[in-house]
Amino acid sequence: MKNHFCDILVIGAGPAGSSAALAAARKGKGVILVDRRPVVGVPVRCAEYIPALLMGKINTDKSFVVQSVRGMRTILPDGTATEIRAPGFTIRRDLFDQALAAAAKQAGVQLFLSTHAVSRNGNKIHLKGLDGTHMTIAAKVIIGADGPHTTVGKWIGSVNQHLIPAIQVRVPLIRPMDMTEIYFDTRIFGGYGWLFPKGKSANIGLGMKGTKHKPPQLKRELKRFISKLAQAGKIRNEFSGYTAGWIPANRPRKVVYENVLLVGDAAGHTHPITGAGIYPAVVCGQMAGKWAARAVESNNLNLLGSYEAQWRNLFEEAMERAYSRLQFRESNWMRLNEIIYRCWVTFRAYYE
Ligand SMILES: Cc1cc2nc3c(=O)[nH]c(=O)nc-3n(C[C@H](O)[C@H](O)[C@H](O)COP(=O)(O)OP(=O)(O)OC[C@H]3O[C@@H](n4cnc5c(N)ncnc54)[C@H](O)[C@@H]3O)c2cc1C
Repeated sequence: MKNHFCDILVIGAGPAGSSAALAAARKGKGVILVDRRPVVGVPVRCAEYIPALLMGKINTDKSFVVQSVRGMRTILPDGTATEIRAPGFTIRRDLFDQALAAAAKQAGVQLFLSTHAVSRNGNKIHLKGLDGTHMTIAAKVIIGADGPHTTVGKWIGSVNQHLIPAIQVRVPLIRPMDMTEIYFDTRIFGGYGWLFPKGKSANIGLGMKGTKHKPPQLKRELKRFISKLAQAGKIRNEFSGYTAGWIPANRPRKVVYENVLLVGDAAGHTHPITGAGIYPAVVCGQMAGKWAARAVESNNLNLLGSYEAQWRNLFEEAMERAYSRLQFRESNWMRLNEIIYRCWVTFRAYYE
């Protein structure tokens, strides 16, 4: 059994964890970052869209960008389409996560892969390697950036109550596109379908909830959705690379307890209506790393409360609004075409 000590232990090397680790290391703290995956960012479970605004928040090389996106087209159940300007990029998410982790390493972070955080005993975390080896890491501050089914969240009793399952494939595009497309359809209960262009291909997927009586028929609905897009002449009806994952859709909740902070999907920072989580993961990760470093520096764990205050200041109102719109949309689902204007982010009525 190996024993390590550090100022700050970050669990999970996704966008949230690497951003937190980097921010803390830049403040001169000793940081260990662990991930249970053997390779950062693999496998990809993401539609791979980021808003242009995010580029200003990260300082890595940008070779993860595949194409730029001009805006978003929303297609309603009756076929009406509306467009807004929403500059962004589709990316290779594996390269994106790897670029952030590499920047953290370059700043002095120790990265342990194939390392699964299993349990906590006070300041000591017990970890298990994929090869069966065991390790403990004692840390002054622990940052849980371990995704939607957070283990760290369970240790402190702060977990995601609502998670929406999502599924996705890659399909060839008939011709290049420069808009993302969002499809609302009463059969995709509680969610939506997406087509995100990525060069010559597109990520096509959907997130939807089950009902009390029926689990969501994700694969069946996805195949139907793909046929519809093929008939519309947008894509070829052939697909590869099935991937699936869970998207938190929660009200804001307390994510700081004693010396433990949660960030990104672990903290439920994902937007409950759109499911977009990369931007808040990076921004809140940077905040968490900064406040963790300050708390260590001044030997004052009370400073971690400033992280809670700061992320709420930035995201709480938008998350509360989105959560209430989500509830309203679900309880009026059969009137979707009529009520969607109040329940989707590209419409003015959403903000009224
Ligand atoms: C199908 C799908 C499509 C999506 N599309 C988009 C999109 O286009 N744009 C967007 O902005 N958002 C999208 N999202 C959401 C986005 O992927 C997440 O919000 C984002 O990944 C959150 O980053 P994170 O660092 O918090 O968590 P993650 O990226 O999930 O990283 C968590 C890391 O923790 C590791 N880990 C977990 N448990 C442990 C443990 N016990 N010990 C060690 N390591 C552990 C995991 O291996 C993982 O690497 C999508 C989500 C899904 C499921």
